[in-house]
Amino acid sequence: MNRACIGITCGTFYDHDWCPPSIGHRKTYIDAVVAAGGAPFLLPSIDDDAALRALYERIDGVLLAGGGDIEPRHYGEQPLPALGVVDVLRDRTELPLVRWAAADGKPVLGICRGAQMVNVALGGTLYQDIPSQLETKLNHSDSYARQDWTYLAHTLRLAPDSRLHRMLGSDELSINSLHHQSIKTVAPGLMAVGWAPDGVIEAIESANGHFLIGVQCHPEALQSTTDPRWQTLFRRFVEACVRFRDRTAE
Ligand code: MN
Repeated sequence: MNRACIGITCGTFYDHDWCPPSIGHRKTYIDAVVAAGGAPFLLPSIDDDAALRALYERIDGVLLAGGGDIEPRHYGEQPLPALGVVDVLRDRTELPLVRWAAADGKPVLGICRGAQMVNVALGGTLYQDIPSQLETKLNHSDSYARQDWTYLAHTLRLAPDSRLHRMLGSDELSINSLHHQSIKTVAPGLMAVGWAPDGVIEAIESANGHFLIGVQCHPEALQSTTDPRWQTLFRRFVEACVRFRDRTAE
């Protein structure tokens, strides 16, 4: 069978200050897509709508990957002093991808920053800096602080009637946590379906049946060994992309 082409958005990585930056992403995203039966297709951050649209037309689904903070002006706020590093070109690339996919019903999976981006692109807002804006005993950067992507930092409670609950088959899972921002108000058309023990929203879904899911944790780092239940999320995503492609084939 012809594999679904899964577009994966990229980060910008700086190695030496005398070298141009690299655009790409961590191997775990690519591995998770291949293991789920998809064909990964890296989508670079670019400042050209026509080129971006041409890439978008060639993919069957969008995987918004993790990364740094999102510019708060995209949800109508001024930056707080504790705002982290932003990637202007990446924001500029991902915002239209989400909006096009939402308009077309093309499947979307947002991971960490990707879940936040889905929410912002569709009209939601974020906490710019969890430690200064939320009263919580949890360290949502704990897996990062421990330098272990598979460190299970806290639990994720899932809404019983959610698509994620059906996929993962559990009310509660232990997850990794490597995020500085989080969802504040949920965008129109989306629903919060997962929460950390302190009430931080850690999973969202479309309310209209569109395969549009965002998770605040990093399942791509857990799915191969730490918690294989996450493989189902990637498989269902790739299957939804195949169905979308076949439905919209000329
Ligand atoms: Mn967390």
